[in-house]
Amino acid sequence: MIKDNVKALLDELPAGVGLVAAAKTRSAEEISEAAAAGVKIIGENYVQDLLRVFDSVKFPVSWHFIGHLQTNKVKLIVDKVDMIETLDSLRVAQEINKRCTAIGKVMPALVEVNIADESAKTGICLANALNFIKSLRNFENIRVEGLMTMGPRTASGETMRPYFKKLKELFEKIKEMNMDGVEMKYLSMGMTSSYMAAAEEGANLVRIGTKLFGERLSNAKSACGGNYD
Ligand SMILES: *Cc1c(COP(=O)(O)O)cnc(C)c1O
Repeated sequence: MIKDNVKALLDELPAGVGLVAAAKTRSAEEISEAAAAGVKIIGENYVQDLLRVFDSVKFPVSWHFIGHLQTNKVKLIVDKVDMIETLDSLRVAQEINKRCTAIGKVMPALVEVNIADESAKTGICLANALNFIKSLRNFENIRVEGLMTMGPRTASGETMRPYFKKLKELFEKIKEMNMDGVEMKYLSMGMTSSYMAAAEEGANLVRIGTKLFGERLSNAKSACGGNYD
């Protein structure tokens, strides 16, 4: 039962660690069940999925975008999401800034860091993260509030720990710089297999799907026809 899973997780997570329910492939009913049991933040990976469930979830949840965001989709979500956790390009930042300026909103954002520098993945590589954040200060309608990572695709559980440590170091380094327009509040890392290691290494947002909602169907399709996983 989703309700029991939520209760168990909320009991288990250390104080100060926020739970983001990673809701890809899940229905509005499943998301509502999680919200009714105490989940406050819903994470969506795909714009079409967010639009599909957004109006049907009647609970006062926050919505975080946690997937790869395409420039041409930004306008569809800026009025709906409370945070974009996966900012990793200036082009997308420019579009977020433009669309948020138009609606008078300042968008909280986390910078997604590709902690293992795998060429095929999204995220800013570790070496470029600081410069990227500096350049984001030009966008008045985006507020950088922290960092996010998926971790390397090949790692899970305990093998993620060294990567979590590295991101925490970067987080603290940037925090100490006290840059105008940058408020390092959130460190989002850890999923079903790795959330306790992440929390121990300093995450204060963990994104959990499977442990809340059960296994995803391996061939599940999104509303827009894309493959998951
Ligand atoms: C699916 C997903 C998660 C959660 O994964 P689980 O292993 O199911 O807990 C976390 N973060 C992102 C970005 C995801 O896409």
